[in-house]
Amino acid sequence: MAIKYDFHMHTKYSDGKSTMEENVKEAIKKDLHIIAITDHGPGHLVYGIKERDILKLREEVNDLQRKYPQIQILLGIEANILGADGKIDLTDLVEENIDILIAGYHFGSRPSKFCRDMRIHMYNLLGLKIKYFRNKIVNENTMALINAMEKYNIDVLTHPGDKGKVDIDLVAQVAAKTGTKLEINERHTHLTVEEIKIAMKYDVKFIISSDAHFYEHIGVYNDALNRVKEAGLDLRRVVNYEGDK
Ligand SMILES: [Zn+2]
Ligand SMILES: [Zn+2]
Repeated sequence: MAIKYDFHMHTKYSDGKSTMEENVKEAIKKDLHIIAITDHGPGHLVYGIKERDILKLREEVNDLQRKYPQIQILLGIEANILGADGKIDLTDLVEENIDILIAGYHFGSRPSKFCRDMRIHMYNLLGLKIKYFRNKIVNENTMALINAMEKYNIDVLTHPGDKGKVDIDLVAQVAAKTGTKLEINERHTHLTVEEIKIAMKYDVKFIISSDAHFYEHIGVYNDALNRVKEAGLDLRRVVNYEGDK
């Protein structure tokens, strides 16, 4: 396996099905060198962690790190991009306790500004079936991602374009400027081949993630790698790829 680290996976602390230790053991088995445990941020109304849980997560990661020194274990969160202003659910307590910040847009997150951002959720939900709504909300979705990247030090923008259509050309231009890595997610179909082709015109870095919700899915990147190949993306631009390039 040429992907040596995975910076996006969930555990039972949010909507994952496995424990942190099961994830760690699987990552060791699959010969990964570094993993980041990235449960959903507290702004998700259904499966976000409670803000104070971050202390428990920190302690558990520290304990596991002592027990399994052969792998580096980072603690992160997958923050929710809450609205068109780019606000995310990163509190001081969470920020002080994490090593890495990844962020993406999800349904079910608490709006930053109620009417404006509920409209975004509603249009994106309707947009799953109806093209009119999908196209009508592209601008707001794009601004949400761009503003988030400009406001915060986000390491990885997760599954851009999933759950809400974005102008990937504009997103990629800003990601190149802020140094935010664009994710090619194994579990979701984004970035798609078409989106990779557009983003790769700019000086953007890419990362492949499992977004595993079950330990066995860690270290499996078939679909993501196929998309990279189909788009003709140079593997040297995928930061966690260490195989033959
Ligand atoms: Zn996500
Ligand atoms: Zn995720």
